[in-house]
Amino acid sequence: MSRRTLRAGETLFREHDPGRSAYLIESGAIRIVVGQGESAMTLADLGAGDLVGEMAMIDDAPRTATAIAIEDAVLLVIDREHLAERVAQTDPVVRALLGGQLKRYRAMLATMRGLDAPETIADAEDIAAIGKIRLESQLRDALIGRRLEMHLQPLYEVTQQHVAGYEALIRWNHPERGPISPAEFIALAEETSLIVPVGEYMLQQAIDALVAMRQRGIGPLPFVSINVSPRQLREAGLIQALIDLLQAAELPTSAVKLEITESQVLDYAKVADVLSACREAGIRVALDDFGTGFSNLSHLNELRFDTVKIDQAFARGIESGGRGMAMLEAIVSLVRAIGADALVEGIETPAQLEALRSLGVRYAQGYLIGKPLPLAQVLGDDAPLR
Ligand code: C2E
Ligand code: CA
Ligand code: CA
Repeated sequence: MSRRTLRAGETLFREHDPGRSAYLIESGAIRIVVGQGESAMTLADLGAGDLVGEMAMIDDAPRTATAIAIEDAVLLVIDREHLAERVAQTDPVVRALLGGQLKRYRAMLATMRGLDAPETIADAEDIAAIGKIRLESQLRDALIGRRLEMHLQPLYEVTQQHVAGYEALIRWNHPERGPISPAEFIALAEETSLIVPVGEYMLQQAIDALVAMRQRGIGPLPFVSINVSPRQLREAGLIQALIDLLQAAELPTSAVKLEITESQVLDYAKVADVLSACREAGIRVALDDFGTGFSNLSHLNELRFDTVKIDQAFARGIESGGRGMAMLEAIVSLVRAIGADALVEGIETPAQLEALRSLGVRYAQGYLIGKPLPLAQVLGDDAPLR
C-alpha cells in the first residue's frame, strides 16, 4: 500500500471523479464537502484513523462529494482491488444491505441539495439477495410453525430382498412456490445457522418415525438414515444430542445412521472426530454422494465409514455401456477394500438393480424401489418392493 501526502488546501478528489481508491488518514485532517461556492456544505471533518472515500469501494460509483485537506495530511492509499475482492467474498445479503444503505444515503444527499435523487435500479444480484432474505425468513417461520416435513425413502438390501432402512429427506411446501427442492433451501439454511435448528428438527422427526414404526410392530425395526450438514458437524453437542434423543425414546443407537457428504470430508479432522464419537456410541455413518466430491483417497482409508453411498451418476452409467459399468465395478471394489458396505443411489430400472446384484452391492436406493414418501404412507405400505 502506498502513502499520499497533501498540503493544507489541496484537493484529494472531487465530486463525480471515479472512485478508484479509499484512504486511511494517518495524520492531518480532511474535510468532506458537497456543492460549490455559495451552496457548498460541509458534511464531515475527518482526522487520524478515519477512512475517506470508502463508499466507492463498495459499489464503484463516482464520488458524491469533494475531499479537501484542511491541514497537512498523510494518507494510506487503499486501492479498490484490495477491497473489491473482500467485498465480493462477503455474504451477498450483507453486500445487498450495505449497497441499500449507500443508495439511500446518496438519495438523501441529493434531496438535501435540491437535486434529483439518483436512479436506483436494483441489479440482479441485489434482487437475488433480497429474495434470499425473504426465503430465509419464510423458512424460519415454516420451522417454527412445524410446516417442514420429513419424507422417507426406502433403502433396499439387495441380497436380503427387503427394505432395511429409510433415508430421511426434508420437504418444504412453500405457501407461494409449492414444493421447494431441499437442494435450494438447505444451502441457504447452511449459509446462516438456521441449519442447526432445522437439523435438530429432522433428528426429532426421524426419532418420532422410528417410535411410530415400533408402535406398529414393524420388525425388525428399520434404521433411519439422516443427512448431516457441515455446519451441524461443527456443533459440539450433535452426537450427544442424538444419543439423548434415542435414549429418551428407548431406541438402540443402531436405529439411526448419519450421512456425511463426500465434500465434507475435506474437513478431515472434524469428520474423524465425529466418526470416532459415533463408533463409540454404536451409531453408523455413511459417506454420501461418493464419487462427486473428489475425496482424498488416502484419507478415505483412515476414516471408518460403515456405508459408502455411490452417487446416482454412476447408476446412470450402468446402461450407457461398458465404461460406466467398469467404473461402478471399480468403485464397488474400492468400497469393499476399505471395509464398508456399498449403496448405489438413483436406481430407476430393473437392469440397474440387476447390475447391483451381479456386483454384490449390498444396498440400493431409487425410484424403482420407492420414492420418498410421508411417514403416514410408509406406515400404510411397508413393503414398497414385492
Ligand atoms: P441426497 O442426500 O443425495 O438425497 C438423495 C436425493 O436423490 C433426494 O433428493 C432423492 O429424492 C433423490 N432420489 C432418490 N432416488 C432417486 C432416483 O431414483 N432418481 C433421481 N433422479 N433422484 C432420486 P432430494 O430429496 O431433492 O434431496 C436433495 C438433497 O438435499 C439431498 O441429497 C441432501 O443432500 C439434501 N437434504 C435433504 N434432506 C436433508 C436434511 O434433512 N438435512 C440436510 N442437511 N440435507 C438434506
Ligand atoms: Ca443423503
Ligand atoms: Ca446422496
